[in-house]
Amino acid sequence: VKGLTKHFPVGGALFEKKRVVRAVDGISFDIAKGETVGVVGESGCGKSTTARLLMHLMPPDSGEMIYDGQKVGRDLPLRELRRRMQMVFQDSYASLNPRLTIEDSVAFGPKVHGVRDADARRLSRELLAKVGLNPQTFANRYPHELSGGQRQRVNIARALALSPRLVLLDEAVSALDKSVEAQVLNLLNDLKAEFGLTYLFISHDLNVVRYISDRVLVMYLGEVVEIGPVEELWNNPRHPYTRALFAAMPTLDPDRRTMEAPIAGDPPNPIDPPPGCRFHTRCPFAEDVCSARSPALVTVGAGHGAACHMAIPGSGHSRAQGALAA
Ligand code: SF4
Ligand code: MG
Repeated sequence: VKGLTKHFPVGGALFEKKRVVRAVDGISFDIAKGETVGVVGESGCGKSTTARLLMHLMPPDSGEMIYDGQKVGRDLPLRELRRRMQMVFQDSYASLNPRLTIEDSVAFGPKVHGVRDADARRLSRELLAKVGLNPQTFANRYPHELSGGQRQRVNIARALALSPRLVLLDEAVSALDKSVEAQVLNLLNDLKAEFGLTYLFISHDLNVVRYISDRVLVMYLGEVVEIGPVEELWNNPRHPYTRALFAAMPTLDPDRRTMEAPIAGDPPNPIDPPPGCRFHTRCPFAEDVCSARSPALVTVGAGHGAACHMAIPGSGHSRAQGALAA
């Protein structure tokens, strides 16, 4: 993904000057085959918009996406992209047609893509079994007859029905009880191994992201501020925002180890993000340069990048780290 950008116009009163929410603002990253890349950041940072742009559920303003060496929209048609890439959303109910049985829901995609009815039904039943729903019990049920965890299993089966290689999971386990969430996470890992899948895993829950991800991307106000291997990021976060996120995690109650905990200062308005480094209004280490110039993402370690003026490339310590250590 190179320079992906999406701004949404807001307001609309005649006398108002045109304003935009910079939902996603020139982000670049890659995902390797077989990886799980986690995406974290406070709500409104652009995580879901990023996933929707990748799926081309809406067109980006600019930027490009290369899938397996093919430029999406040019070498790789969107219809084919949507077969190779699928998405699972947080709301397990909203994404299922209430009038279709579970079997029909899972068979629907393949039928649209030309698979014969009988074959699509057989595939549907196979996939239901794979996601832990006995087809004899569940195939003829309707979504409202299932629990949230069961519905999310159906959504995962639906996503897999077109044999995608990349699955985007947007808060896919966030609405589930903790015990059900753990089961679905393990299911996702099993399916990944069995089908050779690659995941982009979006969540506000840092513990879940740490559990499932190989690498993690941290977003702030539409930009990627840090990216790196998961344990490297946890043990050696180099961007003050990443540090603040982790520091905001209460440690006693596992249910509260999320980013909903407040970080110092008000979250700035994404309509008018601060100039320079967007985190400068909340950053304890901000200096003059921070409001004047936008920091580029620089390499700070193996596969580890941070967009902060104080993050010194290589193994050197950033000002922020020195200050925190002191
Ligand atoms: Fe803080 Fe400046 Fe780094 Fe931004 S660039 S995170 S304001 S130190
Ligand atoms: Mg979201």
